[in-house]
Amino acid sequence: MDPRQRAAGIAMALLRLARAAEAEAREQGQAEGLTPAQAAVLRFAAKTRPDMATPGQLARLLGVRPPTAVGIVNPLVERGLIERRPHPFDGRQSVLALTAAGWEAWGRLERWQAGLEETLAALPPAELAAFEAVLAKVVAAEVRAGRLVVSAPCAGCVHFRPGAHPGSDRPHHCALIDRALGAAEAAMECPEHTPAAG
Ligand code: SF4
Repeated sequence: MDPRQRAAGIAMALLRLARAAEAEAREQGQAEGLTPAQAAVLRFAAKTRPDMATPGQLARLLGVRPPTAVGIVNPLVERGLIERRPHPFDGRQSVLALTAAGWEAWGRLERWQAGLEETLAALPPAELAAFEAVLAKVVAAEVRAGRLVVSAPCAGCVHFRPGAHPGSDRPHHCALIDRALGAAEAAMECPEHTPAAG
């Protein structure tokens, strides 16, 4: 088959998968009385490293303007699911965090992708690993092209300097924010993740 034709078919399949996942997420969100964007805010607060969970980063990830992001967050604050906290390193900024009720709601929501997970988990391990590697390449290329913002752990980021501070309890370093990172911090999602060219 012509490679472009094949690429078009795969792109369409990915689009269909994305739509199906979005529909499932919408259904789960509705059960919690949340719009898809509000459900995305809960995910952001649950998964993003606390010092990166700023309203500005949320706006980048959602692909909306900052005032729009504030408009999405405010009802969640009023419902007691999200709270604004002082930024741990920057007094001019705040960060978004889940409240106890927010964590409970997220716990119910995060199973939205269980169906797709099951399908993937049923693949033979070698096929799953190959699929993961190819998908990572595609995601990295889309990020580099500026068509996608991903939030991901530090591994594989161009700014990551693993083991830059040997013997320290914060052994890694981020060249972008010029800060030492502990292993647990480096394993959390960061919206500034910039995949190294593969
Ligand atoms: S190394 Fe990359 S992913 Fe990690 S904190 Fe820095 S910018 Fe974010």
